[in-house]
Amino acid sequence: MGLIETDAIVLRSIKLGEADKIATALTSQEGVVRGVARGARRLKSRFGASLEPFTLIRLSFFEKETRELVTITGAKITKSYFDLTRDDSVFVTLEYVAGLILEFTPLRAPDERFFRMLKACLEALAESPGEVTWVCRYCEVWILKLAGFLPDSTKCGSCRKPLGREPGGAALNSGSNFECFDCADSRGIVISPDALSMLNTALKTRPGSWTHEAARKDRESSSEVGKLLRILIARALGREPLPRSSNA
Ligand SMILES: [Zn+2]
Repeated sequence: MGLIETDAIVLRSIKLGEADKIATALTSQEGVVRGVARGARRLKSRFGASLEPFTLIRLSFFEKETRELVTITGAKITKSYFDLTRDDSVFVTLEYVAGLILEFTPLRAPDERFFRMLKACLEALAESPGEVTWVCRYCEVWILKLAGFLPDSTKCGSCRKPLGREPGGAALNSGSNFECFDCADSRGIVISPDALSMLNTALKTRPGSWTHEAARKDRESSSEVGKLLRILIARALGREPLPRSSNA
């Protein structure tokens, strides 16, 4: 139970009493960590603005007897995205993404891929804030993938035949697998080859390149991918994702 130091991205930060804060951060080494930062709300706090949501920090903390709430001893800013998050639509989207990460990742379950994904998405967003919707889609694809809820978009979930070659695409069945039309037998939600290929390429491409590519797609494909991801998320959670700020 010593001092732990790791890179982290602040996901949430809420007030605690007069002077303190509870911050929730996605770390590179320790998964999601929630901790108390004593004195963080004082004017001359040593934490300054480092616990503002979506700041990339070097976080140090002590574990306590319970693993639920750690004691944050330091938070040094590596990169601030404050300018980016001043845009309301960007901030609301990032809050939604932070909420999804918290829904799909239990506390203290280390998986560096979540951290790397969110860090790369913040970088992509800083480059092209106008593509916020697509950065969000990219995060949704990856969160589903890393949590084990993204169906294989390259093969039929039943007969293993390669998908995407049929002109009509595939069907999403009630078990959230993609099926070829022979296996689907007119059941399920029809998914276009374009939407399948976008899911597939998101897994092989950095967020910046994928969002540039995706932003050039027509409105129909983009709303189809958005709807498909919403269905997969709602099915995985057993309900719609929680709205912003309700699961800090
Ligand atoms: Zn099949």
